Amino acid sequence: MSTLRNGFNSIAILGGGPAGLATGWALEELGHTDYTIFEKSSVHGGNARTVRFGDFKYDTGPHRFHARHPEATRLVSGLLGPDLQEVNAPARIYWEGRFVDFPLRPLQILKSGGLGFAVKAATDLVTARIRSRNAAPPEDFQTYAYNWFGKTIAGTFLVPFSERLWGLPGPQLSPDIAGRRLPGFSVAGIIKETLFGSKKSDHLEGRFLYPRKGYGQISDKMAEKLSPGRLAYSQRIVGLETNRDRITSVSVKTGGEVRTVSPEAVISTLPITIIARMMDPQPPQEVLDAADKLQFRDVVLVALFIDQESISDAAVTYFQNPKYEFTRAHEPRNRSRDMSPQGKTSLVIEYPCFRTEDIWERDEKSIVDNLVRDLDQMGLIKGSRVFASDVHKMRDAYPVYSKGYKETSDIIKSYLSQFKNLWTLGRGGSFFYGHVHDFVTDGFSTAEGVRAYLNQPAGVGV
Ligand SMILES: Cc1cc2nc3c(=O)[nH]c(=O)nc-3n(C[C@H](O)[C@H](O)[C@H](O)COP(=O)(O)OP(=O)(O)OC[C@H]3O[C@@H](n4cnc5c(N)ncnc54)[C@H](O)[C@@H]3O)c2cc1C
Repeated sequence: MSTLRNGFNSIAILGGGPAGLATGWALEELGHTDYTIFEKSSVHGGNARTVRFGDFKYDTGPHRFHARHPEATRLVSGLLGPDLQEVNAPARIYWEGRFVDFPLRPLQILKSGGLGFAVKAATDLVTARIRSRNAAPPEDFQTYAYNWFGKTIAGTFLVPFSERLWGLPGPQLSPDIAGRRLPGFSVAGIIKETLFGSKKSDHLEGRFLYPRKGYGQISDKMAEKLSPGRLAYSQRIVGLETNRDRITSVSVKTGGEVRTVSPEAVISTLPITIIARMMDPQPPQEVLDAADKLQFRDVVLVALFIDQESISDAAVTYFQNPKYEFTRAHEPRNRSRDMSPQGKTSLVIEYPCFRTEDIWERDEKSIVDNLVRDLDQMGLIKGSRVFASDVHKMRDAYPVYSKGYKETSDIIKSYLSQFKNLWTLGRGGSFFYGHVHDFVTDGFSTAEGVRAYLNQPAGVGV
């Protein structure tokens, strides 16, 4: 084990969100307690927290655990035991006064839209598929969506929604935003659905794992795995001093005071853009330009507390019409009954935005009043039953996958990779639109890498 310097530990973990906590937990599993997690706020969990409001609990956005990675599922199941429960709740889209399933079901969309819409959508879909058969892979999301779903369906559901979510016009978005969320919507699918119907329960979106006490329970349980005093709150990282190929020290601000610590290894879960900007000496201009080019989307969350047993059975409701500033709502009690007191429910609504947009600073009462009016007019809630509200702001929630984001983020990543005692991971640290299961496994592999680095003979690495 390496030596302590300046009274601090040999490993500094920057950020106490899921990625930082998982790395701390992994180090503990390796028998290494010589680390500190520096978290700027007074709570851990980052953007995957559960917020308390009186007897209610709500998550920072509608989280669910994706059992996509067996090792992450094993680790998180072991962490939560029977509190990790299976939920089966559908996702739906509010479409001009009616609801359709998400993921989109071809036949349902065609049926719900009326004859004119159905004919146009089906014709567009077939034409798009024929035209794009031998076309080059699309370079932007709008072309991808038009090629894959046809202009009518893409233009009704996918493009306007994605533009609002990501804050850029469809032609400026990368096709990568489609990720795993837009499964097959094929001509064969329509025929299959027409002949055999569809089994709703087959939809991946509807079945997931969820902690009984809210998604933040995963972070809470990871924090419990840490040795006492390893997680330091209200410690904002403000600088990284470098020397050729090493991070030599980290500047930490607590209250009004800045102090410097010199860890042997630095594991950062902070956005790579912030890390690049806080380096001393400054990185080359090309790296700083890349940091200016990359963006993160922020989110304003509004929680409404409602004097009513339940609103619906949906896990989430997406809003397709771009006239609304909000994109999605979820009812926490549909994930776990522990989220709301008996006889009452809540609804949490997301407003994706950049911090430079008016909504970020807008008077909370006017946001809530307009929201309640809109939801009431849609028939989703009875406005008079809303008895309280809470507004929660989330910074750097989504790395924006603009066209060319990969090349731009690679410029920063490649620069950072020259520092042999620096590891970056997490949503911001890898500029990857990943989920908690991704970062739990990354935390464990990073901890292994750091251990190997620290165990190298003197002169090789440390
Ligand atoms: C609306 C929404 C829905 C989501 N749905 C899901 C889902 O269904 N399932 C799922 O698994 N994931 C979901 N996610 C993603 C999940 O929230 C993230 O993957 C996760 O929060 C990323 O963890 P992280 O540790 O990388 O970053 P963060 O959670 O952002 O944590 C970073 C931490 O670093 C701290 N920090 C920042 N700057 C500094 C500084 N200068 N000094 C010290 N500390 C600092 C922050 O305070 C924060 O605690 C969703 C996210 C959003 C926004």
